[in-house]
Amino acid sequence: MTPTVAKFIWLGLCVVWLALRLRPNVRSRKTPVRYSARGMRETILLGCSLTGLGIIPAIYVATGFPRFADYPFIAALAYFGIAVFAGALWLFYRTHRDLGHNWSVSLDLRERHTLVTTGVYRSVRHPMYSGFWLMALAQALLLSNWVAGLSGFVGFGILFFGRVGREEEMLISAFGEEYRSYMRRTAQVVPWIY
Ligand code: SAH
Repeated sequence: MTPTVAKFIWLGLCVVWLALRLRPNVRSRKTPVRYSARGMRETILLGCSLTGLGIIPAIYVATGFPRFADYPFIAALAYFGIAVFAGALWLFYRTHRDLGHNWSVSLDLRERHTLVTTGVYRSVRHPMYSGFWLMALAQALLLSNWVAGLSGFVGFGILFFGRVGREEEMLISAFGEEYRSYMRRTAQVVPWIY
């Protein structure tokens, strides 16, 4: 394993992630949205996440910029990064299957929205966000550059902390006590821990 191979593997795994998103993206448009909390704030949060998890590392992979922030590559970390990314992809696949027509890229409630509490939603309320945290970790392990490696944590962190409270408030307003009791028996992103 070399730094260049690790960069290409990161890119390839991102393409797999995009492929997994393709179908839900098309299918979700079939179910109309009945309430949306989208707006400027959500657009900025999504932009931060895209920049940190996608644009900054993609520029690094394509051009090597910013080279001053490179640090010595450790192959064992890159192998671990592949395993972590594979775990993230598995979670994305499962969360899309479990959420079905309830999924949105932003904060929406769809027609016939149901509260999903089974499958990967059984012990964690935000397993798709767990998947993004894993993707950020994999990025840090595969790209030996302080800026491109860590930008995923910063970008997705801004989206996560800026959104998750509002998402839960929205789901409480839609499902009331059902969601509150779901909150009491689950963690946010790490089963039994956080
Ligand atoms: N936060 C979740 C889902 C992200 S997708 C996760 O990380 O897995 C965002 C959309 O999912 C929001 O529009 C919200 O309405 C919906 N959503 C979140 N949790 C849900 C649940 N348990 N059941 C049904 N829909 C949910």
